[in-house]
Amino acid sequence: MEEERLVMTGFREEDDDQESSLRPKTLREYVGQQAVKDSLSIYIQAARQRRDSLDHILLYGPPGLGKTTLAGIVASEMGQNIRVTSGPAIERAGDLASLLTNLSTGDVLFIDEIHRLSHAVEEVLYPAMEDYALDIMIGKGPSARSIRLDLPKFTLIGATTRAGSLSAPLRDRFGILFRLQMYTTEELMQIVNHSAGVLGIQTEEDGVREIARRSRGTPRIVNRLLKRVRDYAQVRGDGVITRQMAREALQMLDVDDLGLDRVDRNILSTMMTKFDGRPVGLDTLAATTGEDAVTIEDVVEPYLMQLGFIMRTPRGRICTQAAYDHMKIAMPQYAQTRIDGQTSLLD
Ligand code: ADP
Repeated sequence: MEEERLVMTGFREEDDDQESSLRPKTLREYVGQQAVKDSLSIYIQAARQRRDSLDHILLYGPPGLGKTTLAGIVASEMGQNIRVTSGPAIERAGDLASLLTNLSTGDVLFIDEIHRLSHAVEEVLYPAMEDYALDIMIGKGPSARSIRLDLPKFTLIGATTRAGSLSAPLRDRFGILFRLQMYTTEELMQIVNHSAGVLGIQTEEDGVREIARRSRGTPRIVNRLLKRVRDYAQVRGDGVITRQMAREALQMLDVDDLGLDRVDRNILSTMMTKFDGRPVGLDTLAATTGEDAVTIEDVVEPYLMQLGFIMRTPRGRICTQAAYDHMKIAMPQYAQTRIDGQTSLLD
């Protein structure tokens, strides 16, 4: 089901062809995330002046917000090479050891989905991050001994959708932590304008705004919707992305006014009607809607929470009045008292 979603935030094959040309290459071209950029440029400048490598960096936030892009930019601004891998790709401790021993001084090692590293692999990472060393066991049984191998000084950039699932020892070894925020409509419009320029697409400002508004605050989605609207405008119009073209195309793609698609609406309506507005736990919601619990937590929920459509309570998730209004479903009496009770508790 996930594969069919246009507004899902994960990487899709179709993004591959032009994604690299759309990726900003410098901190100046990187739109938004001002606080992160301000701090990073200071750290980069300071490290360069000292001719030292940068401290290890942990980036977290929902998929598609620009973590991989930022890692590439850090490497190029430091004038260093980057090696890209991911948590699930490093299966055994030996895989990581060989990656580490092949690094050169100053290299950036980017590990996406770092929360998915196994415990055995993490154990290898600790001395590597802290002391730039690798502890290797030689032999077995009573004669086994460990030798320490020096590694070049490198910078690890870890990316995760959920900082909470990182083990504390791993999290503590990062000197710099950045949380990426969802982008504003204006920032997404800048990205659309830039991408339209690269792809040679003609646009009108209202059309650009319409795409930006419905992209869940996520650059990867805004670029994907831009390409789909371009196709529509080419076939049904004269190729120019006007507001009308964008609206028609997005309606055809089942992306609503706020960027919600079938999956989001299914989740909201399930919470509202099947559970009558009562608090629902994540696993129950996943089982009832047929969606993956990880997708709900990493992709669907952050945006619905950002919109103020759902709230987390100790007993489960509930929808807010704004969500009922958007879905045009009357709020059950039970839910009204819950939310009132909740608000007064928070006051
Ligand atoms: P993540 O690693 O967080 O999943 P990526 O770095 O792969 O996200 O970003 C997805 C795409 O979105 C990139 O190819 C790039 O084109 C675009 N993008 C991301 N962040 C920005 C940004 N700040 N400015 C412009 N484009 C961006």
